[in-house]
Amino acid sequence: MADESLNPWKIAQAQLDHAAEILQLEQSVHALLREPMREMHVTLGVRMDDGSTQIFKGFRVQHNDSRGPTKGGIRFHPDETIDTVRALAMWMTWKCSVVNIPLGGAKGGVICNPKIMSPTELERLSREYIRQVGHILGLDKDVPAPDVFTNPQIMAWMADEFAVIKGHNEFGMITGKPIPLGGSAGRTDATSRGLSICAALAAQRLSMPLEGATVAVQGFGNVGRHAVEILSKEYGAKVIATSDVTGGIYNPNGLDYDDLARHADAHGGLLEGYADTHDGVSAISNEELLTLDVDVLAPCAIEGQLRADNAPDVRARLIVEGANGPTTPEADRIFHENGILVVPDILANAGGVTVSYFEMVQNSYGYYWDLETVHERLGRTMTDAFHHVYEMTDQFGVDPRMGAYLVAVARVAEAVHLRGRA
Ligand code: NAD
Repeated sequence: MADESLNPWKIAQAQLDHAAEILQLEQSVHALLREPMREMHVTLGVRMDDGSTQIFKGFRVQHNDSRGPTKGGIRFHPDETIDTVRALAMWMTWKCSVVNIPLGGAKGGVICNPKIMSPTELERLSREYIRQVGHILGLDKDVPAPDVFTNPQIMAWMADEFAVIKGHNEFGMITGKPIPLGGSAGRTDATSRGLSICAALAAQRLSMPLEGATVAVQGFGNVGRHAVEILSKEYGAKVIATSDVTGGIYNPNGLDYDDLARHADAHGGLLEGYADTHDGVSAISNEELLTLDVDVLAPCAIEGQLRADNAPDVRARLIVEGANGPTTPEADRIFHENGILVVPDILANAGGVTVSYFEMVQNSYGYYWDLETVHERLGRTMTDAFHHVYEMTDQFGVDPRMGAYLVAVARVAEAVHLRGRA
């Protein structure tokens, strides 16, 4: 039987319960926020290339729209579950609130394995998903984006299907689009840029210069890869280890981002084989990476990586969570007790949704910002959010994750109140 203590939905609800208790939320507001506002389960029949029709299950969960239209990515993943989607939708509500953008939280998912589907099968699946859930989507309703195993091309097909249904373009109904279809400059590395800004501000709190600090980054996908790039090239940090699903690599003298990127691009996005072909680089496991003697650890792969069994061995002084839910509640307690500073996911990886919001704004008035403007506005948003979270953390004497929850939940609860919903 699955371990219910690792069920992300149970974890998300328990986190809210704790925040509600500290904030002394009214029982009705707490009860409203504890459940998704709306959820949709769909069955998708998709014609495969061999002429057969395959049936897929999909979901769209809208957690809360009190602060504005809901927002959140769509995952295409074989292990997708409704409880994961519910948890991610709730976390999106808090994430948008932490960075104070006028949006609520949602998430979508389809149970499928895109790694074994052809581009035409993926296109038909993406279009069918929009035909089924499109009537609850829209710039003023709910706005999806890419997430695990979905990408700008999939967003482009979805935007096109929506335009066909509506009879006109509505680019702002989905974000993370390719630039020629209304995508924003700076979206690709926005999550990693936000994470790097948080790492620099947190390092200041520890009086630890980020320049020259040693860093381990778990994951070399969209978030991990650009975190390695920005932390090493723009902040002068020494990234000594990174990894992907095939394992990790380690060089105590520092890894070269451009060389890693060239290797990954030539090997299906993977780092496999890198250690064998580079002097001074050794192969390590993902487990070893997490407990390396580094100043900064950035988990940027998947959930549930830092747990009660390995948290006591973590030696980093600072953990910056690029992934959603990489740390279990037990591990969190251990880090707090051991004096390790954590920048929680709903703050650390909020740069992505922030630039997605910028994309919606630009789509709305059909006028596009240059990269410099996006970076400047992202920097301001992340810096303000960081300071709010750590002020709350200090004021209530809680860990930073709860500090972020207190900022986020209080804002959403205020909106619920003002609307008279509970
Ligand atoms: P991705 O699919 O591009 O990359 C994931 C990386 O993790 C890959 O390198 C993959 O090989 C690796 N990985 C997968 N399973 C692993 C395992 N068992 N052990 C070690 N490594 C493993 O995804 P992404 O967009 O980079 O997202 C990574 C995390 O960040 C996810 O939790 C996602 O929800 C979160 N996130 C992403 C964004 C964004 O803008 N892309 C924004 C906020 C949060």
